[in-house]
Amino acid sequence: MRLHDKKALITGASRGIGKAITDRFIAEGAEIWGIGTKEPEGLAEWIAETKGRLHWVCADLGDLEQVEALVEGLIKESGAFDILVNNAGITRDNLSFRMNLADFQKVIDVNMVSPFIIARTVGRAMIRQRRGSIINMASVVGIHGNGGQANYAAAKAGVIAFTKSLAQEAASRGVRVNAIAPGFISTDMTKAMTGEAKEKTLSLIPLKRMGTPDDIAAAALFLASDESEYITGQVIPVDGGMFM
Ligand code: NAD
Repeated sequence: MRLHDKKALITGASRGIGKAITDRFIAEGAEIWGIGTKEPEGLAEWIAETKGRLHWVCADLGDLEQVEALVEGLIKESGAFDILVNNAGITRDNLSFRMNLADFQKVIDVNMVSPFIIARTVGRAMIRQRRGSIINMASVVGIHGNGGQANYAAAKAGVIAFTKSLAQEAASRGVRVNAIAPGFISTDMTKAMTGEAKEKTLSLIPLKRMGTPDDIAAAALFLASDESEYITGQVIPVDGGMFM
């Protein structure tokens, strides 16, 4: 039980990577407050399986005016969070020359501004308690860029930059801040990619397969647990060796 009695806030917990992290953390003894835009199917059964250690919160984290108050309410409700996983994210892909500003701004708001508001709100409370681990979900695209994803790449690059800045500000107060940069992971986000585009991406992965949500959950568990207590301000790529 690597997260025995730890309390974690996980955004985008309803499916894909966020759900895998939620299930993994619960299996390791944590109590979770999970946020998603809507209730996942079979929520009552899921909560029962966790013996009540999952608390579900529906919220639109793109509604930036509401985010801080929402998170402050959850900090009060939980008592204190030991772990934050800023995982919720969206894509609105298009070539830069065709992308409208609303799609650029929306992706920046949900993927970068909202995680920043959540990280600093939870981070303030973690600093008061002198302990905590914040994990931000970035992407290899935030390091290397990607044609057709200028908005998403800019947002994830911003996540990496604020992760390192926050890590520098919080380290002396016992709070660690790291990011994970997933490569090509099999979830709803990537299921639209098929045929030639998918084959081309797969050919770039030395480990010769797409990643799974569990591959990312394993890295998140490491960063959340005391096993990584001497690691802060880092970005860990989990990409099958795509970018060495
Ligand atoms: P997904 O689309 O399967 O799940 C996204 C989750 O975010 C869902 O739970 C959804 O409800 C939640 N969400 C989206 N917008 C929200 C909002 N406005 N308010 C609240 N919740 C919201 O995506 P995924 O593939 O599991 O991705 C999870 C994270 O990993 C994202 O940050 C994504 O950018 C990142 N990532 C994914 C991949 C990949 O290949 N799948 C690669 C690199 C990074």
